[in-house]
Amino acid sequence: MRLTILQKFTSPEPLLFRTVKELRDFRSNATRAGKTIGLVPTMGALHAGHMELANQAKRICDYAIVTIFVNPTQFAANEDLSKYPRQEAADIALCARHGVDAVFAPDAAEMYPPNFGSSITVSGVTEKWEGEFRPTHFAGVATVVAKLLLQAMPDKAFFGKKDYQQLQTVKKLVRDLNIPTQIIGVPTVREADGLALSSRNVYLAPHERRVAPLLNKNLQNIAQIAHQGGDIEAAVEKAKADLSAAGFGKVDYIAVVNAETLEEWNGKGEGRVIAAVYLGKTRLIDNVAV
Ligand code: AMP
Repeated sequence: MRLTILQKFTSPEPLLFRTVKELRDFRSNATRAGKTIGLVPTMGALHAGHMELANQAKRICDYAIVTIFVNPTQFAANEDLSKYPRQEAADIALCARHGVDAVFAPDAAEMYPPNFGSSITVSGVTEKWEGEFRPTHFAGVATVVAKLLLQAMPDKAFFGKKDYQQLQTVKKLVRDLNIPTQIIGVPTVREADGLALSSRNVYLAPHERRVAPLLNKNLQNIAQIAHQGGDIEAAVEKAKADLSAAGFGKVDYIAVVNAETLEEWNGKGEGRVIAAVYLGKTRLIDNVAV
């Protein structure tokens, strides 16, 4: 295993780990060498948003490890687990171009062996919004993130603000369970027209892709009105009407919330505009600061 750390100085290819043991061995050797590790958990189908997380990990840690695991427990039965985009070779090539040191890509049996029976519930930040529409989602996320953090024992772990409620959930998880990893939230990377990069954007038909940036535009508008102390309810209604007129479908939620607790914003402290709206069959989520 000492060899694999040495290889890092000679090979632009990331090391590829399939087992928890390989990951743990890398961690042990890095610790012995006095090196820090930054972990970037992902479900693959990597894009520039994921790579921004990896770039930050590289910048502030000695080694960046990207994990690629389409976690079945965070998908409900009616969701897109089976058709979620999978492109491991392209993902690893992208990681290589960004100087990622190692990729951890376990299979489902490695993460959830027979008789696996534990689940972590983070209460307080998970019940509303995404939690209301995806009731089993955050237990799946919290459990797999706890596993990844305990497997890799990174000094820092990087999560996108794109999944804002997830980021707050993970921060609460590590606080509550005293997991010794610092969680770093990374700003959302967007297309030039404002659409947040997402692995699920590949589902959008061309005419949907053209109107998709309107979600972000409307959230920006609500944020500005909230910032100026204007009528938030009216601004949300206007956004819903605007999106509907443009061809968007069901609105799961559009709300202005406290940026930390995710309770409805009372005008005090930092606010965040969060939303989940369907465009055709694709469910887009986005959020912006007030
Ligand atoms: P996913 O593969 O969708 O589970 O995302 C893995 C990580 O990348 C999560 O922490 C996401 O919040 C983050 N992420 C996804 N899209 C973006 C984006 N457009 N900008 C920044 N981070 C992102």
